[in-house]
Amino acid sequence: MQEIETEPKSGQTRVLVAEDNPMNQRVIQSLLAALGHEYDIVENGKEAVQAASGGAYDVVLMDISMPVMSGEMATRIIRAMDDDAKDMPIVALTAHAMKGDRERFLSAGFSDYLAKPIDVTSLSSVLTKHMGPSKAVA
Ligand code: MN
Repeated sequence: MQEIETEPKSGQTRVLVAEDNPMNQRVIQSLLAALGHEYDIVENGKEAVQAASGGAYDVVLMDISMPVMSGEMATRIIRAMDDDAKDMPIVALTAHAMKGDRERFLSAGFSDYLAKPIDVTSLSSVLTKHMGPSKAVA
């Protein structure tokens, strides 16, 4: 167990979560807290695009199926942005990971995907995988 930090480190990881399901929100929230990450939660793709604009996040966890705007559409819009946000790692969250989905997600601009239900091991490894190098280069 690590000691709890009383003040956020300047290099602390910020995660944007776009997920419309309250139960899934709570699960992801508790996993991110357990891993020591800062996070914001939005409820649809449109809010995700607004929050992502400006690139204040190290990684985005993006549900595929959301009201108002889907995760795929939001990701396409973020990738077309004119600022740092366009290069953020975006991880798709999907309940139906099937053969062919990986190609579909990658072609929509996602960096990776996680199948629900999400567990701490897979979340931790996908975050480490996508945040490590981008941190070092930045
Ligand atoms: Mn959903």
